[in-house]
Amino acid sequence: MSENTPAAVEKRDFIRQIVRDDLASGKHAAIKTRFPPEPNGYLHIGHAKSICLNFGIAGEFGGVCNLRFDDTNPAREDPEYVAAIQDDVRWLGFAWNELRHASDYFEAYYLGAEKLIREGKAYVCDLSAEDVRAYRGTLTEPGRPSPWRERSVEENLDLFRRMRAGEFPDGARTLRAKIDMASGNINLRDPAIYRIKHVEHQNTGNAWPIYPMYDYAHALGDSLEGITHSLCTLEFEDHRPLYDWCVDNVDFARDDTLTQPLVDRGLPREAAKPRQIEFSRLNINYTVMSKRKLMALVTEKLVDGWDDPRMPTLQGLRRRGYTPAAMRLFAERVGISKQNSLIDFSVLEGALREDLDSAAPRRMAVVAPLKFVLANLPEGHEETLTFSNHPKDESFGERQVPFSRELWIEREDFAEVPPKGWKRLVPGGEVRLRGAGIARVDEVVKNAAGEIVELRGWLDPESRPGMEGANRKVKGTIHWVSAKHAMEAEIRLYDRLFSVENPDDESEGKTYRDYLNPESRTVVAGYVEPAAASAAPEQSFQFERTGYFVADRRDHTAEKPVFNRSVTLRDTWAS
Ligand code: ATP
Ligand code: MG
Repeated sequence: MSENTPAAVEKRDFIRQIVRDDLASGKHAAIKTRFPPEPNGYLHIGHAKSICLNFGIAGEFGGVCNLRFDDTNPAREDPEYVAAIQDDVRWLGFAWNELRHASDYFEAYYLGAEKLIREGKAYVCDLSAEDVRAYRGTLTEPGRPSPWRERSVEENLDLFRRMRAGEFPDGARTLRAKIDMASGNINLRDPAIYRIKHVEHQNTGNAWPIYPMYDYAHALGDSLEGITHSLCTLEFEDHRPLYDWCVDNVDFARDDTLTQPLVDRGLPREAAKPRQIEFSRLNINYTVMSKRKLMALVTEKLVDGWDDPRMPTLQGLRRRGYTPAAMRLFAERVGISKQNSLIDFSVLEGALREDLDSAAPRRMAVVAPLKFVLANLPEGHEETLTFSNHPKDESFGERQVPFSRELWIEREDFAEVPPKGWKRLVPGGEVRLRGAGIARVDEVVKNAAGEIVELRGWLDPESRPGMEGANRKVKGTIHWVSAKHAMEAEIRLYDRLFSVENPDDESEGKTYRDYLNPESRTVVAGYVEPAAASAAPEQSFQFERTGYFVADRRDHTAEKPVFNRSVTLRDTWAS
């Protein structure tokens, strides 16, 4: 499907097994799936699981996948989300067969509803929302029939047409499917299939004062698109009988007049009987995934926006430095099942490390700088060293790294009083400067407050690259950048947005807002070598010994470099 999918090992989850069987038995000549987001927010990593499943299956089995906007709730929808969702799906590496909207089918949905009325399978109900709830019964008690349940077909048709004509105010009436008020499945107790809502719609404007309910629209949309396998999350398992009821009773296959509106719009006339299959949704610890909560984080300015690199949105993860390949690898590792589970955040980070280890060129950068002067080199000395861009992959080539008498090294690579097992710099001790030679600290310069402001030392002239003495054994190796040549960079060190495993837990009388990690972002001024500063936005690097970083998609320029830490080199959260 996408160029950079690693040669896929055949995936064997239960959904793929069903698809395999359906193709083998000839039930379907080809398969068709869809990804049906509601354009009422940005996509998050949970959606990525669904995208990788729907598009992945279509790709693996020679089928196609549609992108369908489930735009049946105009009050919450926005073209900004429509654009971002398309951007995200493409970014993940997938191409949709057709781009559709539930609103493309409003006319066919409407005709389907009239058909149900004519056949005595739907009625207009005047109960208020509150009364509908009261009549519905409970898990242990059957519901009671609405007083409007036995309206005549003529009266129902007349009222429904007047609903459609905009005669009644919001909430005054609903159209309900007439199924079974005593059903053990509450979804079948005469569910509403249309409601009155005088709200302008982003695609259909003011053409419709009534809108179909999700279950009805979703089932019929799948049928009209010829979807063979309709994959959704487990909470829809109890809706499946209603899904099937809608498909079977509207039955587009038996009545061409119902699908004529599609033909009029230039869309192919399809009338499939799709099969709904449920899988468990993705949950990750230290994360909230509800669109409502993500929205609140943005509107309450608890984060910088939908694409804040700490957000689990695809826009946020992308800005953080997550790659499409890492996202797909993650989805693959999480797998597909019917078992609800909580995935450890480290699985996500591990997928990114694995991708970037092979995909990201190496660079040197210093995050918390300390000056180190190699006093035995002549004043103004500078030279150029050749470094390979990747230790395990020659195809990354080489680059020139400037070296000079004055370097920046990491403050934490020097200890005046070293702890046990210390392998880095100490007064009088030696360390290897990555790719440059072996150096020793002779003098620790302090300011009036007693803080270390500079180290002065000696570079062993017999230890330069290529020399015999370079192989001499020293304990540690540290990275550096040439102070004269390095570019100052804004470095944003990100950590988890929440400091507890389950930020959704409200049992302590707190909410996720109370669990925000105050240290989720630290901004420091560091130095990067020229070959990092000149990177294009969104280029990822491994900064040696420090972590994986990405040039910020929005703020990075070669003149004012900005890098986001995508992930540390090792999992430091394991407790
Ligand atoms: P809501 O409907 O409350 O706005 P939603 O999360 O269901 O939120 P949709 O836009 O309807 O959002 O979701 C589109 C598709 O993504 C659906 O098929 C849904 O099942 C799937 N999806 C959403 N969240 C997850 C998740 N955490 N894991 C797997 N799939 C998900
Ligand atoms: Mg939904």
